[in-house]
Amino acid sequence: MQQENPLRALPSVNDLLADPRVAELEAERGHALAVAAARTALAEARESVGDGGEPGDLGARTVALAGEIAAPRLRRVLNATGVVVHTNLGRAPLADEALERVREAAAGYSNLEYDLDEGARGSRQDHVAPLLRELTGAEAALVVNNNAAAVLLAVAALAEGRDVLVSRGELVEIGDGFRIPDVLARSGARLVEVGTTNRTRVEDYERALGDRTALILRVHQSNFRIVGFTDSPDPGTLARLAEERGVLLVDDLGSGVLPDIGGEPTVAASLAAGAHLVTFSGDKLLGGPQAGIAVGRADLVERLRRHPLHRALRADKLTLAALEGTLGLYRSGRETPVLRMLGEPAEAVRSRAERLAELTGGRVEHTVARAGGGSLPTTDLESFACALEEGLAEPLRRADPPVIGIVRDGVLLLDCRTLTDDEVEEAARAVNVCRSR
Ligand SMILES: *Cc1c(COP(=O)(O)O)cnc(C)c1O
Repeated sequence: MQQENPLRALPSVNDLLADPRVAELEAERGHALAVAAARTALAEARESVGDGGEPGDLGARTVALAGEIAAPRLRRVLNATGVVVHTNLGRAPLADEALERVREAAAGYSNLEYDLDEGARGSRQDHVAPLLRELTGAEAALVVNNNAAAVLLAVAALAEGRDVLVSRGELVEIGDGFRIPDVLARSGARLVEVGTTNRTRVEDYERALGDRTALILRVHQSNFRIVGFTDSPDPGTLARLAEERGVLLVDDLGSGVLPDIGGEPTVAASLAAGAHLVTFSGDKLLGGPQAGIAVGRADLVERLRRHPLHRALRADKLTLAALEGTLGLYRSGRETPVLRMLGEPAEAVRSRAERLAELTGGRVEHTVARAGGGSLPTTDLESFACALEEGLAEPLRRADPPVIGIVRDGVLLLDCRTLTDDEVEEAARAVNVCRSR
């Protein structure tokens, strides 16, 4: 006799929606979510039954799946990697002051492009530019979507159809395939490589300068350093050469930093050395939102502003609000979370690691933290971590909130330079929940 197909015994989506628990879910959280969860639960059950297993409690599974489906995908995580500006983990955490500005600008209408004095159309660039001028000493400033956009826009607006000289030691790839030569190609300018990988002298630039040259582009080497037998002209020397020959010097600082923290060129120093335009990121060492900032000579910034690409690359109001809030901290001499984490004494980090070890039964380990974001690549920040069993790495990534550490030599290190006091408590709770499962 033929056996009945066990798949036939599974309920339909409508049957499952009639389950009182699923009906309650539907009433509370809507038909679409209940149906999506019921379909997924049934698909799982079909698979399980096909493999000779049991369908399980479909109503309970549907309710659980609804929670998973509706949970936000872009979530807060605890960064226990010790990398302060971690691109994969969203780079700079924003200061409360910046978040307040975002809330205020985003919750209702704003004067984004409205001049309140004149009662007429204004420019979105007018809100942040005065702060940037004040903090960098630049004549003018422009904010776009990110620093890659700032470099692209600068080269497109200032060198389209002409030559851009770049040292072979600076033709860098920054991460996820962002390569300076490719950006130049898209900008419509022609790249002229100058010097060698390890040594480029001012004479190399001199020889390469010609009628077609529009600008010299300096590019921060970002996440790597050439050490040993090296040479590259300082920005002052390049600026003098550019002036003499009637071309521009554009300095892409990458991370860029406002106060002198050692090891990274400041924006003001680059301008003071004579760079005509300087570009840098909003969410690296600056500690603000994702943004690209171009500061420099007013006529050049105006050319960027008027270029058609600007419209495609412009910063949105949330970015501008967060950036204004972040820059306001610098003006009033307060610290961004990024600078606080970079500058915190190792002893304070050690006491957090001790607390975490005490709460989790881990062991305190001496570590080296990093600035990240292509900045200070050779600077070791003394740090401390709580070392735990390696097997916790995966469950902690699935915890709520997820905790991201570093696995090294068979242990999981939770570096406490990038955790706050409160986050240490949260991380400890997550560890103990994972262990009790
Ligand atoms: C990071 C970086 C960029 C790109 O900046 P984003 O803000 O990530 O677009 C460009 N140039 C250099 C040298 C960098 O380090």
